Amino acid sequence: MAKKQKKPSAKKQPSKFLYWMIGLVAVCIIGLVVLANLPKDGFDFDYTDQPFLGEKSADVNIVEFGDYKCPVCKNFNQSFFPLIEKDLINTGKAKFYYMNYPFIHPVDSTRAAVFAEAVYAELGNDTFWKFHELLYEKQPDDTSKENVELNTEEFLKETLKEVTSDENVEKVAKAYSSETYQKRVDKDLSYVDTLNITGTPTIYVNGVKFEGNSYEEFQEMVDKAAK
Ligand code: CA
Repeated sequence: MAKKQKKPSAKKQPSKFLYWMIGLVAVCIIGLVVLANLPKDGFDFDYTDQPFLGEKSADVNIVEFGDYKCPVCKNFNQSFFPLIEKDLINTGKAKFYYMNYPFIHPVDSTRAAVFAEAVYAELGNDTFWKFHELLYEKQPDDTSKENVELNTEEFLKETLKEVTSDENVEKVAKAYSSETYQKRVDKDLSYVDTLNITGTPTIYVNGVKFEGNSYEEFQEMVDKAAK
């Protein structure tokens, strides 16, 4: 009898322990999922060698993924960006980074992106932003042109010539065909893959994707990230 009574209780103990363990693991998994969704745990970009506007000390890092052939990016650059610049960059709240996601035109998009990376590396941040601005400005308003090859080396050099010296243009023209600047675009593209970005412009605030539609929502997101 004593032996029979002991056996069932010996079997029950491990099963209780098993349920307890399953419960604990489930709590841990739920905890991790909740943590992963908290805005403060945004994607950790490496901002080295990326052009930016704003003060180095600014708390908030805004990233735009763009394509120089993208009409919506041109629109963003002319309507949304000036507001960001006035309210968030010039006030020292945020830094604004531009990363490349060239995908619209098989040749033009990548050529402009690589050339722009070379402008940044060879001539510095100020010239990069002037060139960047001008390149979007020169993008034709006729959106059917996004399928036409326009960003030839000649065109890119002519555009750069409007913001810097002939000597500097030649410096970039020589440098941009080296693998270095293609690799910088590839680095930006690795983020596109990792984050599963599917279009341009796509905006991140401290590593968290902006999903709203209005400037007010964006401003609110940056304000929260600054706290
Ligand atoms: Ca880049």
